[in-house]
Amino acid sequence: MRSTFQVKTQQKVEIINITPQVQEAIDVSGVAEGACTIYVPHTTASILIQENADPNVHTDLLNALDRLVPKDLPYLHQTVNKNAPSHIKAALIGPAKTVFIGEGKLLLGTYQFIYLCEFDGSRDRQVWLRIVSDEPR
Ligand code: ZN
Repeated sequence: MRSTFQVKTQQKVEIINITPQVQEAIDVSGVAEGACTIYVPHTTASILIQENADPNVHTDLLNALDRLVPKDLPYLHQTVNKNAPSHIKAALIGPAKTVFIGEGKLLLGTYQFIYLCEFDGSRDRQVWLRIVSDEPR
């Protein structure tokens, strides 16, 4: 089953918890055992699975990405918004993750949530889900 939802980002760079929307789509699908792939059809946003307890982890991650991907390198991608660093950060985190489903629930670790990473906001982002059941139809 395919499902889509929208996320309206507010900041240039932010990490947004989308775990509730993903679980809701799984609830609607009725899939009890299987897997869910979470994907963004964007080149400056990503899907991340990370710590949900200490928000400093998100700040540390964003600060480390700023060090890894400096704003002032001689980038060749010189569009109006000069967003080469946004593309590179999105490439490093990646556009998709897959999570197993058990007894109708996302099988995440205690400290794991699913996040959309915005690297070039604010924008309207789409999240595409593919929910696959282990059970034959
Ligand atoms: Zn660009």
